[in-house]
Amino acid sequence: MAQHHIPENLPDTIRHFIDGRFVDSVSGATFDVLDPVSNETYARAAAGQKEDIDLAVAAARRAFREGPWPRMKPRERARVLNRIADAVEEQDARLAELETFDTGLPITQALGQAQRAAENFRFFADLIVAQADDAYTVPGSQLNYVNRKPIGVAGLITPWNTPFMLESWKLAPALATGNTVVLKPAEFTPLSASLWAEIFRAAGVPDGVFNLVNGLGEEAGDALVKHPDVPLISFTGESRTGQIIFANAAPFLKGLSMELGGKSPAVVFADADLDAAIDSTLFGVFSLNGERCTAGSRILVERPVYDEFLERYAERAKHIVVGDPHDPKTEVGALVHPEHFEKVMSYVELGKQEGRLLAGGGRPEGLEHGNYVAPTVFADVAPDARIFQEEIFGPVVAITPFDSDEEALELANGVRYGLAAYIWTTDLERAHTFAQNVEAGMVWLNSHNVRDLRTPFGGVKASGLGHEGGYRSIDFYTDQQAVHITL
Ligand code: NAD
Repeated sequence: MAQHHIPENLPDTIRHFIDGRFVDSVSGATFDVLDPVSNETYARAAAGQKEDIDLAVAAARRAFREGPWPRMKPRERARVLNRIADAVEEQDARLAELETFDTGLPITQALGQAQRAAENFRFFADLIVAQADDAYTVPGSQLNYVNRKPIGVAGLITPWNTPFMLESWKLAPALATGNTVVLKPAEFTPLSASLWAEIFRAAGVPDGVFNLVNGLGEEAGDALVKHPDVPLISFTGESRTGQIIFANAAPFLKGLSMELGGKSPAVVFADADLDAAIDSTLFGVFSLNGERCTAGSRILVERPVYDEFLERYAERAKHIVVGDPHDPKTEVGALVHPEHFEKVMSYVELGKQEGRLLAGGGRPEGLEHGNYVAPTVFADVAPDARIFQEEIFGPVVAITPFDSDEEALELANGVRYGLAAYIWTTDLERAHTFAQNVEAGMVWLNSHNVRDLRTPFGGVKASGLGHEGGYRSIDFYTDQQAVHITL
């Protein structure tokens, strides 16, 4: 087995946090939490059921109705949010260590995610203070203005990929706008979420404003979605789960924000800067272990440079360092959980029938245990192949040639998803034309997956509903009441 780092002072129980206190499940139920390198149970987490969600929602509701949080001035809440950001930054190394241990993400990348979590809090602290709302006068007749209000208890349901950062992407705007929250983190990776409790308490978040219930999606998550006193659900996860939540929330007419799966294309035209395109498309699918919603997991390459691209890409993929997630040299760590490992491996086997294997194709040599998958590259993948159509969410890429702009667009759009698209060409007009026509919520032209937090984040088609990011997040977590008075 690879050398394996185990953090000091690792908890062996992970509890809920309700109304300012760490508590077990009412029923006493727990579930096992595995470390993805040994696949041994290192902790037992409280398995929340309906009664735990009921307690958490009651606490959040009380804090919303009676507590100071929704009534504080934006500047006061912003100060608390900035203290949260400071605390996250101060302990970024410890956060990254725990996140890496729980998720199998390479430590250098987990550190970046911790810093990004801090930035999310700072960003929404700034935004809420700068918030402006409209007023309209009809001279001599009427004054109309927008009275923006927090909505109530927000239910936040998050996935296991970059868990701490993705939680911050919901917690920061929900809290900044004065709501109270119940967070249900992913059951594969509950470790880092429990750190929020102490961070929030130390920063001055009143009891009941932040509540955390661990547990399975079908139990704790389901109860949160169906709770009548939770008017908002912000969900990030698989498209299939999104459909279930959509249906379960329908009878309550809840506000829903859905950040779902992806199968994003990276399109490389023959006139592209091939060095930059190869660097970026490697990063696009192999960073974060390929467990990235915006992964460019289908690469479409124009025929004149197809062979050169394949040769250079596969050579680079073979040299990606796979190993212990805590080793700073590691570029691809261990996949999150043995169930997910099995799923990814089944696609690797399928790919051997559906494409031409150029790199990887199974476990990396020397890593006989743990959820390690060698960066895997398939070429000549037909558009009806399952590895072209389905989200694998691991270090596996499908490469397909094309002969014209029209064919590239058809291939790019020929899946049910529409989260991101990456275009590589030096022809400015072609780049913009492609961006206008590609069915994707987010497009990167000759660039990587980096964005300003003010931009809309979200997908189209099966990749999501609604956009978060910047003022869109503020809009989701607030009501804009229109007040009219006759002058
Ligand atoms: P998942 O859908 O299995 O689980 C996500 C969360 O939903 C977990 O907390 C889970 O417990 C909960 N859940 C499951 N069933 C539920 C139910 N019936 N009711 C309520 N909650 C339920 O997703 P995952 O495997 O944890 O995450 C990977 C997926 O997330 C991928 O598809 C990925 O593309 C997607 N993702 C999307 C974005 C984005 O912004 N678009 C970001 C990250 C991940």
